[in-house]
Amino acid sequence: MTQKLYRQDAYLKTNISGVTSSIDNIIILESSIFYPLGGGQPGDIGTLSWDGHEAKVINTTINEAGEIQHILSAESPIPKMGEILTTAIDWERRYLHMRMHTGLHLLGSVLKYGVTGGNISASKSRLDFDMEEPVDKEKVAQDLIKLVDENHLIQSKWISQKELREQPELIRTMSVKPPSTDQNIRLLAIGDIDLQPCGGTHLNSTGEVGQIRIGKVEKKGKRNRRVYIELID
Ligand SMILES: [Zn+2]
Repeated sequence: MTQKLYRQDAYLKTNISGVTSSIDNIIILESSIFYPLGGGQPGDIGTLSWDGHEAKVINTTINEAGEIQHILSAESPIPKMGEILTTAIDWERRYLHMRMHTGLHLLGSVLKYGVTGGNISASKSRLDFDMEEPVDKEKVAQDLIKLVDENHLIQSKWISQKELREQPELIRTMSVKPPSTDQNIRLLAIGDIDLQPCGGTHLNSTGEVGQIRIGKVEKKGKRNRRVYIELID
């Protein structure tokens, strides 16, 4: 199975890897730094290069077998099986996703309600909360900025499926179950303020989120508040 390097180190921008499968425009590699679409976070885009050729990766997905599928544009040259490639992600875009993704974790730790949905993009991101009360935008923004300024350390921890079953309170997101094919589950720990199962790409510390603000707040139903965050720079 593809070795998922983005899980061990979300800051990898390039990698060298062999092609294990090449069918039409879908390339599978031995190891990959490309994050696949999932958990509300878009799949990475970037390039695969070899022998003077360059293929454009226009999306990344994960199949049922857990293989990372690099999807090439129609005009791209196709590398053969066994070819050794230099791979590079669009780092600027990914780093925005990491800032947004981490920002949403902070939003979820400020608004302590069940999360029923979410979406990340480089320009704006949102979480849907299972709540009836109106959202105090100013207070939420202040609390968020405080968590960013305190620059909490962010780390991954691994626990077994059994340990997770014994602590169901860890799962805040009701719509997204953590990956159940893995024997162990990755937990994301933000200082001592948040602990959540999550397979996404995160920053090393909350300070890197940078300047953040609350965007629109929408009432999407009696028990649903959709809260957007935006990055200022
Ligand atoms: Zn996450």
